Parts: sequence; C-alpha cells; structure tokens
Amino acid sequence: MSATLPVGVTVVDHPLVQVKLTQMRDVRTSSSEFRARLRELATLMICEATRSLATRPERITTPLAECEGRALARPLVVAPILRAGLGLVEGLLDLLPDVSVAHIGMYRNEETRRPESYYFKAPTHLAEADVILVDPMLATGFSATGAVAQLKEAGAKSIRFVCLVSCPPGLQQLRGAHPDVEIFTAAVDPGLDERAYIVPGLGDAGDRYFGTVG
Ligand code: URA
Repeated sequence: MSATLPVGVTVVDHPLVQVKLTQMRDVRTSSSEFRARLRELATLMICEATRSLATRPERITTPLAECEGRALARPLVVAPILRAGLGLVEGLLDLLPDVSVAHIGMYRNEETRRPESYYFKAPTHLAEADVILVDPMLATGFSATGAVAQLKEAGAKSIRFVCLVSCPPGLQQLRGAHPDVEIFTAAVDPGLDERAYIVPGLGDAGDRYFGTVG
C-alpha cells in the first residue's frame, strides 16, 4: 500500500528483515525458530526506529588519543504490549542492554474485539525518555492506541511504535488517534479477516511465540 501509506509510517524493507519475516509467516516454522527470528527482527527493526534519536557529545580516550564520541541524549524505555510484545524485548536488549522495560497488559475481548487493560507498570522517568512501544502485530490498532494513551497519561512525550506486520485499518487508527507517534513496520498486509486477524499475516503471534497454538 506504499502509494497510500499514511504520513509517519516507515516500512522497513531491508532484505534481511523481509527474509526473516517470510520465515516467521510460514506455517511450518516451529516455535523455537519463530522465537529466534523474532529476536533477530527486533534488533534489525530497532536500528531503523532509533535512527532519529538525539545524541550528545561524549569525550573519551582511546588507547591512542582523546576524541569526541556520541552518547544517547535521553534514556530509552521499551514498552511491550503483553503478551506477544515480550517477544521483541530480548532482541532489543541485545542491542540496548541498559534500557528500562515498561509492561502494558492488554488482552483482546474476543466478543467486542476491543482491548481490555489489565496491567500497567512503567518507570517514573517516562517524561524524560524516548519510549519504544512494541507489539509484533498492528491489527485493528485499538490495543496500540490504548497503550499509547496509558503511556502519555504516565508522562511519556516521545513515543515510537514498532511492529512487524500491520494493515491499513490499524495504521489509520493509530495515526489518527496519535499523530505524534511514528510507526515502524516490516510489512503492510492488505487487511483483516472477520476475527480481526491480519491476512495473510502470520497467525496469532503470541500463540506461535509461546507455543500455545491449537
Ligand atoms: N494479533 C495477532 O497475533 N495476529 C493477528 O493477526 C492479529 C492480532
């Protein structure tokens, strides 16, 4: 849908991202392979999502001389939407071991298809931090919209959203409700089925990650 991609949405079309996502989509991929690919994809996606982070000068000494390097200007917080978002945390921590982790518990009420919040725990310095909200799937967009609202209520001012598979209704919902939140996705699929699953998508990301399929 690149011709009609909403402003503020980046599709990460790096070949490694696309190859690993294809492996995750494949129904024959086992839970252990699915976990490994998700961890790798988190690392690749976070490189793109953090490209615009502010840095500050940092004076250091190499074995040969003093020089000026860069440090991140603000602390980073990663906020997974439970439970599937947890699958993106490890890969992110591989690259950024010092980040704080907020947890946002949302489950989908299968009748209303709306998210219900059951848990929220975030560090106290959200207002000074850059927050990366993560969930592998952006389907209807209601969970992400609710999660952003909770983060903002808790003080967050700079929020980016990272997912793997999105679709036009989810992108429009999240960007419409929170136009200040940039979205990074590896794919934009055509749409949702009658159960609000992304098609072709990759199925239920939480079930595949945690091995609770069937
Ligand atoms: N959540 C998932 O895990 N998959 C979808 O397709 C939609 C929501």
